[in-house]
Amino acid sequence: MEKRFIDFRSDTVTKPSAGMREAMYEAEVGDDVLGDDPTVKKLEERICSMLGTESALFVSSGTQANLLSIMSHCQRGDEYIAGQSAHCYNHEGGGAAVLGSIQPQPIEFKSDGSLDLDEVAAKIKPDDFHFARTRLLCLENTQDGKALSFDYMKDASIFSRERGLSIHLDGARLFNAAASISRPASEIAALFDTVSVCLSKGLGAPVGSLMCGKKENVDTARRWRKVLGGGMRQAGIIAAAGLYAIENNIERLDEDHQNLQLLRKNLKRLKSLKLFLHRQICFLSNCSGIRPLLPGPL
Ligand SMILES: *Cc1c(COP(=O)(O)O)cnc(C)c1O
Repeated sequence: MEKRFIDFRSDTVTKPSAGMREAMYEAEVGDDVLGDDPTVKKLEERICSMLGTESALFVSSGTQANLLSIMSHCQRGDEYIAGQSAHCYNHEGGGAAVLGSIQPQPIEFKSDGSLDLDEVAAKIKPDDFHFARTRLLCLENTQDGKALSFDYMKDASIFSRERGLSIHLDGARLFNAAASISRPASEIAALFDTVSVCLSKGLGAPVGSLMCGKKENVDTARRWRKVLGGGMRQAGIIAAAGLYAIENNIERLDEDHQNLQLLRKNLKRLKSLKLFLHRQICFLSNCSGIRPLLPGPL
């Protein structure tokens, strides 16, 4: 019998399917820096119609999508509030500080992946030249495998508007989050000024992310993308994979979530693999973007 190997390290290890490769092969291309790549344009238009956002920008990675989003809201000497272990603060090489001169104000995530809004309020700096100007609140969804509740996101959105902050969502796994709370992704996106979405995680594209949101932010981001060396030429080759991913693979996320539940249920019976399995399953649930399946060891 042929041995099957399933790599559970991360949802980043997905490889393009035959259909996706075919779409890449067939892609019409042009010079995207000149605005001439029809496939990139189609991908950007398609995500806008799915999320209901004004504009979108195809970028090389989720890290770049977050960095560009932060740089589109904040200027030198401004500040963004994010979770202590947030990707945009803790896993992106300090990019916003290094490249944007934008100071982070991290606070601890609560166990459900949210940021306590009273704590956020307490960290907003007064309008005084001793302090950085607090401009932006960044949420992450899913956060470490947990989907934020819709009500929380709504509260955070209203809160940020009342406080004069912009609000960004690191939605690397936005579609997992949406599937998990059974809401269209557009309802989530509507609560934020900008949203970043990864095509190369559970959606299976080999590369690429999208920065979506208000036109003025995306226009600013387009400029910074060029400055950061992220302008791409015949990028339709990779955009075609992203387009294939959002057209074919979003509806399959539920299947992933169900498979994970099934795996969890069956693996629990193998008591001899306790510790190893606990770690693997926690990691797997983080990657799949659904709530951690195991409150404690198996
Ligand atoms: C993977 C990920 C990103 C982006 O990562 P890249 O490897 O740069 O594409 C951003 N935020 C979260 C929460 C992620 O999991």
